[in-house]
Amino acid sequence: MLDTLRRIIQEVNAAKNLDAALAIIVKRIQRAMATHVCSVYLFDQATQTYVLMATEGLNPKFVGHLRLAISEGIVGKVAARAEPINLEDASSHPAYYFVSGSGEELYHSFLGVPIIHQRKVLGVLVVQQQQQRRFDEGEEAFLVTLSAQLAGVIAHAEATGGLTVSNSEPVRRDAKFDGVAGAPGVAMGIAVVVAPPADLDGVPDQEAGDIELELHRFQSALDQVRHDIRVVGRSLAKRLKGEEQALFDVYLRMLDDNALAGEVVELINQGQWAPGALRQVVQAHVQQFSLMDDPYLRERATDIKDLGRRVLARLQEDIPDICQIFPHNTILVAEEITPAMLGEVPTDRLSGLVSVLGSGNSHAAILARSMGIPTVMGVVDLPATRIHGKQLILDGYAGRVFANPSAELASHYAEILREETRLTKGLESLRDKPSRTLDGYDMPLWVNTGLVADVALALERGAQGVGLYRSEVPFMIKDFFPSEQEQIDSYRRHLQPFAPNWVTMRTLDIGGDKALPYFPIAEENPSLGWRGIRVTLDHPEIFLVQVRAMLLASEGLDNLRIMLPMISNVMEIDEAMALIDQAFAELTDEGHQLIQPEVGVMIEVPAAVYQIRAIARRVDFVSVGSNDLTQYLLAVDRNNPRVAGLYHHFHPAVLQALQFVVDEAHKEDVAVGICGEMAGDPAGALLLMAMGYDSLSMSSNNLPRVKSAIRGVTLEDTRAWLLEVTQMDSPLCIQERLDVLLRDAGLSRLIRPRNTEMAVKVID
Ligand code: PEP
Ligand code: MG
Repeated sequence: MLDTLRRIIQEVNAAKNLDAALAIIVKRIQRAMATHVCSVYLFDQATQTYVLMATEGLNPKFVGHLRLAISEGIVGKVAARAEPINLEDASSHPAYYFVSGSGEELYHSFLGVPIIHQRKVLGVLVVQQQQQRRFDEGEEAFLVTLSAQLAGVIAHAEATGGLTVSNSEPVRRDAKFDGVAGAPGVAMGIAVVVAPPADLDGVPDQEAGDIELELHRFQSALDQVRHDIRVVGRSLAKRLKGEEQALFDVYLRMLDDNALAGEVVELINQGQWAPGALRQVVQAHVQQFSLMDDPYLRERATDIKDLGRRVLARLQEDIPDICQIFPHNTILVAEEITPAMLGEVPTDRLSGLVSVLGSGNSHAAILARSMGIPTVMGVVDLPATRIHGKQLILDGYAGRVFANPSAELASHYAEILREETRLTKGLESLRDKPSRTLDGYDMPLWVNTGLVADVALALERGAQGVGLYRSEVPFMIKDFFPSEQEQIDSYRRHLQPFAPNWVTMRTLDIGGDKALPYFPIAEENPSLGWRGIRVTLDHPEIFLVQVRAMLLASEGLDNLRIMLPMISNVMEIDEAMALIDQAFAELTDEGHQLIQPEVGVMIEVPAAVYQIRAIARRVDFVSVGSNDLTQYLLAVDRNNPRVAGLYHHFHPAVLQALQFVVDEAHKEDVAVGICGEMAGDPAGALLLMAMGYDSLSMSSNNLPRVKSAIRGVTLEDTRAWLLEVTQMDSPLCIQERLDVLLRDAGLSRLIRPRNTEMAVKVID
C-alpha cells in the first residue's frame, strides 16, 4: 500500500496543472481502492461552494457544475466537521442531497475525507461503492493518509493555476502567494529566478530570445559532456571490466538525438531557452523511470539526473552579460536565497528578494533587513521555475507576493512606496539627535554589521558602536577560507571607521543555516549540531587565525571586543579564552603593540540563561542573541516557514528569560547588550530598555525607527508597559497590546507605513 501511495503522490506531483492533477487523483484512487466512484470537490472562494472538480464514476457532465453550499450534503458535512464520514448507506443519512442526473443513486457506501492544508479545508475526497457496506479501517486510513499528502500538492497547484509560461497566453491578474515577512518594505519589479550552479530543478522556464543561439549553446554543451564522458571512460578503461565499460556507451546513447537531446531540441524550437528545455525533458524522464517496477530501470533515473546536471553545468559556463540577467528593479527569486546570491546582483538593481524556503529569521532575511531590501521568505507555493521575467509586487510587511499585478493593485502599492519614502525622509533628521527618552534616559544604539556596505550606512544613521559583526558573512561569499591577511584587511575596514567606539566581532558562527560552500556540514538536525563555537574549538587552526587577524586589525585602534557564539557551557568559554590568550601572547611576542581585548559571549542557548552568573564571572560582557534564544526556548526552527507563526519574541517565556539574564548579569556587574532582531523592532526595543539592557544592537535600517520610538516615550512609561505585558500569557495578545500602546503614544507610523493587509483584502 505504501508503494501505491508513493506512486500516486509522485504522479500527481508531476502533473502539469490542477486539472491534470485532479484527474490523476481520481483515476488512481479508484483503481487502487477498487471502488466504483472516486470524486474530488474543491472549495471555490468566489461562490463559497464545494465544486465537483473531477470524478471517475459519476456523470462527467457535472464536473465544474455540481456545487454544494457549505454544510450542504454529506460532502458539505465532511468539510464543516473537518473529519471523515464513512457510511454504509449514504441515502439514509439525514444530510444526503441527491442531484438528479449525477448517477449517485446507484451507490450506497460512501467515504468522504476532508482535504486540509495549513488548517484550511480545501475540499473533500470521496469514494463510493454500489454494495451496502462500510469501508474498512484500512481503506479509511489509506484515504486519510493520501488526502493529507495530496493537500499540499493541491494547494500548490491551485496557487500556481494563474501563471502561464508563455507571455502570449492570457494571464490571471494578481495571482497571490503567501509567505512569511522577511524584511519590511514594498518592491515592484521583474522576477529574476536564480538557482545554485548545476541545480537542474531550480532552472526557470524562460522564452528563448534567440532560438538559433540556444540551439547552438545546447549543442556545444552536449558535445563537451560527450567528450567528458569519453575521457572518463578511457581513463578508467584498464580498471573496469567489459560490461562496466559498456555503461559509458549506455550513458552516451542517452544523449543521442533520438533520445534526450532530440526532445530538448524540439522544446527549444518551440521557444523555450536551453536550460529550461533541458530541465523539462530530464524531469519527465526521471519521473517515468522512478515509477518503474524494475529496480534496475528505476535506478536509471539517477543516471539521467546526472547527465542533466552535467549538461546544465556546461550551459551555465557561458553566462550572458550581467546587465541582461539583472534588469533594473530586479526581484531576485530562488528556491533558497543564499548570502552568496545577494552578493551577485548589483545593489542598484536589486529591489526585493523572494525565497521559497526559509523564514523571517533565516540569515538571508537578516542580511536583507540589514541591507534594507524588502523580502518575503517561505513562499512555499510559489512555482519558482515558472515565474522568471514576470511582473511581481512584493509586500515585505504582510509576507506576500503578487504576480501579474493589475493596474489597481500596482497603484495601491505605489502609494505605499511613496509613504515609505516620506517616512524615511522624516527620520533622516534624527541622525545627530541623541537617543534619549522624554525623561532624559540615554539608550545606546549600536548596529549589527557583516557586509562592508553596512559600515557606511551605520555611520550615516548615527550608530554609537557595533554590537555584532557577523564575521562569517565575508567567509560565506568566498570560495575558500580567507587568508589571515585577507581577514586583517576586512576587519580593519570595520574597526577603523568606528574608532574609538566599540566594534564587537563575533568569531565564526557557521553551521545551522549558515553553510560555507567549501566546508559543508550535513547533519540531521543542524541547529542542535555542530555550529558556532563547537566548530571553531574543534578547529583551533581556524579559530586562532581569525583571532590573530582580529587582534592585528585592531592594532593602534584599540576598539575591538571579541564575542563567542553558541556558548552552552563554561568549558567552552575557558577553552576559547585560552586560545585567545595564546594568540595575544604570540603577537605581543612578535612585537605588536596590542591591548587585551574585552571578551564576551552570546547568550542564545537556554543553558546559558540559567548559568548566566557563572558565565558573567568569566567575561567582560554578554550579549543576548534573541533570534536563537527564541528558537531554542520555543523549540521552533527559525528557518521553517511551517512553524513561523509559532516563532515569537514576545512569547512570555522569552520575555522572562530576557529579564532574568539582565538582572542576573548585573549582579555580577557585567554589561548586557542584545543583538537579536527584537532590538530592531520599536516595541521590542522599548521593552528591552525598560528591562535594563545596556545597549541595543540592530540593523542600521531599523536604527532611525527605534531612535524615534525612544525619543517619543518616557522610561517610566515603558516600565509600566513592561509590567503590564509581563502579566499577559499570550504572545499575540502582547503584540496587539504593544501596538495599541505605541499608537496611543503617537508612534503608529513606526508600526508600518500602512496596514497593507487590510488594504489588500479590499482589493481582493
Ligand atoms: C541571534 O541568534 O540572535 C544572533 C544575533 O545571531 P544570529 O542571528 O547570527 O544567529
Ligand atoms: Mg545566533
